[in-house]
Amino acid sequence: MDVTVKTALISVSDKTGVVDFAKALAQMGVRIISTGGTAAKLSGAGVEVVSIDAVTGFPEMMDGRVKTLHPRIHGALLGLRDKSQHVEAMTEHGIEPIDLVCVNLYPFEATVARADCTFEDAIENIDIGGPSMIRSASKNHKFVAVVTDPGQYAQVIEQMRNNNGALSASLRSDLARAAFALTAAYDAAIARYLNAKAGVEFPNRISIALTQETVLRYGENPHQSAALYKLPTSGEPSVCNGRLLEGGTEISFNNLLDANAAFELVKEFDDPAAVVVKHLNPCGCAIDDDINIAYRKAYEGDVVSAFGGIIAVNRNVDVELAQTIMESYGRFGKALGASGFFAEVIISPRFEEDAVEIIRTLKTWGSRVRLIETGPIDRTKLDTSEFDVRCIIGGLLLQKRDLVGWEPEVVTCPTQTKPTPEQLEDLRMAWLVAKHTKSNTIILAKNKRILGVGAGQMNRVESGLLAMKQAGEEARGAVMASDAFFPFPDNVENAAEAGIAAIVQPGGSKKDPEVIAAADAHGIAMIFTGKRHFKH
Ligand code: 5GP
Repeated sequence: MDVTVKTALISVSDKTGVVDFAKALAQMGVRIISTGGTAAKLSGAGVEVVSIDAVTGFPEMMDGRVKTLHPRIHGALLGLRDKSQHVEAMTEHGIEPIDLVCVNLYPFEATVARADCTFEDAIENIDIGGPSMIRSASKNHKFVAVVTDPGQYAQVIEQMRNNNGALSASLRSDLARAAFALTAAYDAAIARYLNAKAGVEFPNRISIALTQETVLRYGENPHQSAALYKLPTSGEPSVCNGRLLEGGTEISFNNLLDANAAFELVKEFDDPAAVVVKHLNPCGCAIDDDINIAYRKAYEGDVVSAFGGIIAVNRNVDVELAQTIMESYGRFGKALGASGFFAEVIISPRFEEDAVEIIRTLKTWGSRVRLIETGPIDRTKLDTSEFDVRCIIGGLLLQKRDLVGWEPEVVTCPTQTKPTPEQLEDLRMAWLVAKHTKSNTIILAKNKRILGVGAGQMNRVESGLLAMKQAGEEARGAVMASDAFFPFPDNVENAAEAGIAAIVQPGGSKKDPEVIAAADAHGIAMIFTGKRHFKH
């Protein structure tokens, strides 16, 4: 059933587009009721409005806390037009129906995001009358339309113009569902703020409003449907907060997972660093004073795995770096006899325009690669309140993010041999890479470059053997990182055979004395971090 809009109530904090919207309604003969600030703005622009107090018979009071909370408003929104008792009640109490409500709310989230926001500011920015009207109108969307976003104005006006001033049931339903999602999100934001203020880390009940960013073509596999939802965000540079540059193939579920993994690792380093990720694990990572060299070292770490990889750099992509990246894939593709060598995604704080042009004009894969620009990386802005969430069937597991990095002040060295300053640098890097690699993890590194990765194995010995096999002869003189302690000395024995010179691990095993003795027996320097980095 269509509803002809005869009376509209407009009460908005965000006044974007509201004058044009109201003018268009007025042109179609709609009577407009409005609250203080909105009424002033509309009448200032020449739109005829009825002030809210003329309808309620009460002045707006208590600093605007009470404006529209009145039976003449809520009765006008909630009354069923097809139920005689409701219609009689409306007539008896002089309640005239309102057919459209246009409300957007006090900007609570923007207010609490301000550095100078006091608790009182936050409380005053909790909108009460707005959500009440939105909910009344939404409940009664059989007869009332509810407009909660300036982005909806055009569609509403267009439909009214083409439909003799009426709105369809289907549009009213869309608007009502969007409205309930909005008020739910609004209250979730308030609860989140109050919980944070009260210092409650894991509240009994958590409501988080997620905003759909995009529907994805499919999930991890083509038979799984999927979409990306964004959390209420802190503004920390992340893949989610980044900007997908134009061009490139549609980004996929797996791309987003890998891009996140790559970027979270490259974010660990202040020096120019590059990472190549495959299936959530780094297959290449390197640091150098020159980002081009860092990239080359990362890529060349494992060119076979880099096929279809995700590249993240912590420096801007300029023309030179764009060329280095494109050439590396071309060169190795040819050397390996594969012409279709490509990367899926490149992530960087910024892509210079000329660099994008170079990437996009490369026919083979430059036109397809997804480019994600994250904005400048600032580790001091990491969102420490954000959770790491995992799904099990029927439940969610929440934990605080693993934001522990390299803590030199707690590192101890129980072995007779001590690491050299160069080895210490490599140990630091390997340790940070291990943090971002699926357990059981063994990482080998030399000259600020990853040589071998053993990831996701069901025992640590196997991870070690894989990493050593990959590093081959280069393992001689390299360093090794293990994400968790060695329960037995076997990994140290294998490391010694491969020529590993230094090891970093958390320590804390019952068999630490035996593990230390094995390192000492082979002249290996070993340091303990005291913290582990399981990643399941
Ligand atoms: P205006 O700028 O028109 O004075 O105020 C518009 C804002 O007031 C809107 O964001 C609307 O949601 C809010 N609002 C409308 N009625 C009430 C009420 O009775 N109490 C409170 N606290 N806010 C209201």
